[in-house]
Amino acid sequence: MKTDIIVIGAGVTGCAVARMLSRYEADVTVLERGCDCAEGASKANSGIVHAGFDAVPGTKKALYNVRGAEMYEALTGELGVPYRRNGALVVAFSEEERPVLRELLEQGERNGVKELRIVEKDELHALEPNLNPEAVCALYAPTSGLVSPYEMTYALADHAAVNGVRFVFDTNVTGLRREDGLWHVATDNGEWEARAVVNCAGCGADTLHNAICAAGEEIHIIPRRGQYDILDHPDAEPFARTMFQCPSKMGKGILVAPTVHRNVLLGPTAEDIDDERDNSTTAEGLSEVSRVAARTWPAISLRTVITNFSGVRAHEAKGDFVIGAVPGAEMAWEAAGIESPGLSAAPAIGEALAEMIAEGMGLGKKAEWKPAPARPKPFNEMNEEERAAAVAADPENGHIICRCEVVTEAEIRAAIRRPVGAKTIDGVKRRTRAGMGRCQGGFCSPRVAEILAEELREPLTAVTKDGHGSELLVGTVHSAMEEAAQA
Ligand SMILES: Cc1cc2nc3c(=O)[nH]c(=O)nc-3n(C[C@H](O)[C@H](O)[C@H](O)COP(=O)(O)OP(=O)(O)OC[C@H]3O[C@@H](n4cnc5c(N)ncnc54)[C@H](O)[C@@H]3O)c2cc1C
Repeated sequence: MKTDIIVIGAGVTGCAVARMLSRYEADVTVLERGCDCAEGASKANSGIVHAGFDAVPGTKKALYNVRGAEMYEALTGELGVPYRRNGALVVAFSEEERPVLRELLEQGERNGVKELRIVEKDELHALEPNLNPEAVCALYAPTSGLVSPYEMTYALADHAAVNGVRFVFDTNVTGLRREDGLWHVATDNGEWEARAVVNCAGCGADTLHNAICAAGEEIHIIPRRGQYDILDHPDAEPFARTMFQCPSKMGKGILVAPTVHRNVLLGPTAEDIDDERDNSTTAEGLSEVSRVAARTWPAISLRTVITNFSGVRAHEAKGDFVIGAVPGAEMAWEAAGIESPGLSAAPAIGEALAEMIAEGMGLGKKAEWKPAPARPKPFNEMNEEERAAAVAADPENGHIICRCEVVTEAEIRAAIRRPVGAKTIDGVKRRTRAGMGRCQGGFCSPRVAEILAEELREPLTAVTKDGHGSELLVGTVHSAMEEAAQA
């Protein structure tokens, strides 16, 4: 199969790059080893659009974080993705920690972050009454925001797809070879040829980089796992802002944060692991999460934890993002080592990398770039009048499939029919929130599976939770009886 540009990896970075490449006259294909977009770090992170005070000045992290964060409000508006600028506080629990806040403030100002200031005890506790009374002061970053990371990724992919980008899933890139002016891309799903390749493979990016870079230019990605607890929607949000503690050399530490969908998030840990696909949670990790989070929020109760999860950061050993042309390789670009603040930086990385690629390949812009497909207001955010109108327009809005998050049958069918639509129960969950609530899909999963089977025109036994090997049903009682009779 032939294409002009192959983007490897359909996380938020690959999708942001693919979307911006779709502005240019080129045939673009995204190859993803998972069964959907956002199957790596992009589905399991804190969902914070960082203001940019944490990154060391002069680094690519600082550059792309600050630029990306500035782009978020307009971009999420254009794509129809939930985003909230709620601000963040980095809390000092003793006077000894005050110099850390000053350093972060100075660093942030050098990075170009606006409105940063230190808030003293009285103002701090007035802003956040549930904060530990021992907190003495905090760095306040009003420009910090919240986004749904997977909804962002899907929306970027949808916009790319309406502008002609092809998404090919269940396709693991296993080798890259340059021959006769073309890249020959070997996969476990056939071979591709392309004029250019773009490596956005998350924790797998170092293997691809090292296979094609000049000697001495190798990179090394260390998978760094972060575990979380997520709490059900509280009656009143305990914190309006994202609450950090002072950072350590392993990262920003364990936070207590609202989510854009008004859950409460506790985490993440930071553990270097050997297997980049090990996104399990552990008793030790989760107990560290609750112990450290309780310092911020002493009245914490774990009775409302509805689930836990972990994500794996792609930490490059030198500590910075690796963005640009792959050294020593012709027509190959990359965004590697994209750990935090990679979600915040993704719009800026997409923009910059697409420009570099277009220049390198001599691509012109298309005469027309179609707008992002509309995303209707979720039923659970509508008032009574809007709900009545939605049901009148489509009676399937009258069928509530997920009772916890109030998601309708019409919304689930629409999510499957998106340009890069859901194909699995988890894909429906992340696009619509059906299964995200306190019963975690206990009630709605069977009905979601039936709708998937109808929409995808496949038997119910082919429906999976999250790709091959996660089928829910092994067969019918009838077929089992027949097999037993033959045995
Ligand atoms: C615990 C945690 C908390 C974080 N919190 C934040 C935060 O609050 N704010 C923030 O800005 N950032 C945060 N981040 C960072 C952010 O999540 C990442 O920077 C971002 O998601 C990286 O996106 P990506 O597309 O580069 O990588 P990924 O999302 O990992 O995507 C890479 C994709 O490449 C695919 N792939 C890999 N190898 C191959 C191959 N050989 N062939 C085909 N496909 C392949 C993978 O399946 C995957 O889908 C956090 C990360 C973690 C893990």
